[in-house]
Amino acid sequence: MTLNTNNPTNLQQLDSTMLSDFRNCQRYFYWRHERQIDSIDPKVPLAYGIAIHAMLAEWYKTKNIINAMIAFDRAWALHGQPEGDTKRNPIRAAEIMNAYKNFYSEESFKVIDIEVRGALPAGDFMLVVIIDLIIDLPGYGLLPMDHKTTSYFSEKWWRGKILRWQYSAYLWAMRQLFGKNCNSLYVNGVLVDQKRCLFDRQPTSRSDWDLSMWLSEANHIFKEIQLCRSENEWPKTEDYCDRWPDTCSYYQLCTTAGINYRELQPGPNFKKSIWNPLNEVR
Ligand code: SF4
Repeated sequence: MTLNTNNPTNLQQLDSTMLSDFRNCQRYFYWRHERQIDSIDPKVPLAYGIAIHAMLAEWYKTKNIINAMIAFDRAWALHGQPEGDTKRNPIRAAEIMNAYKNFYSEESFKVIDIEVRGALPAGDFMLVVIIDLIIDLPGYGLLPMDHKTTSYFSEKWWRGKILRWQYSAYLWAMRQLFGKNCNSLYVNGVLVDQKRCLFDRQPTSRSDWDLSMWLSEANHIFKEIQLCRSENEWPKTEDYCDRWPDTCSYYQLCTTAGINYRELQPGPNFKKSIWNPLNEVR
């Protein structure tokens, strides 16, 4: 299902990744979403996560493991077919798919829809969402399910995921679409590991109050984006530079001395890449 993506009001479209990028580092938002610059280096974890999403989407569409692996290969190729590493490669993906099929041989829910994409007015901007699955779970009713790949399961990991701002955005969108009785989301965790295949799922809920707070915060962030634009001022958050598996991909740009960053022309390690929230799955 694709939701209405018409934008008669010409409101700017933002997804939760863009909002989070801005919250994490305004300079990062500037490079990625204003200048539309991306590093040419293949991002193996990102490509693998996207390909696993494509694989699971196809699995729920057809319940056919070959089709699911074709979907993985297609997405993997589309993202540069990186060499991968010991835990992220097509062979490990096939092993995960096979183990997933056996582990969840009898799902406790009915699939209502797969990869629901759309844009909804959320105050002063259009919120873009891609919901991996909408399911009907006895005892909960309709709820979105979000696939998440992770290198480890721990209480801390679950705590971080369950509180995710992105899930407030999804639940806010679900409430607009399906009404009040849609207040929980199911996180579908998939371990990314060299040998083990592990899966875990947990629900997370938001009250009306939580969602109204989220809407107010999201609009506040949108105002801050507009302020940065009007002043063309994009402060760095230096303590965010190392919060990646590798250093931030814009580190080279942010540490180029003697030139105003607004005039900086990136070298051959970078390319033009337009972020289209309706095409991306993270
Ligand atoms: S290198 Fe650091 S300051 Fe620059 S964009 Fe990345 S996180 Fe922000």
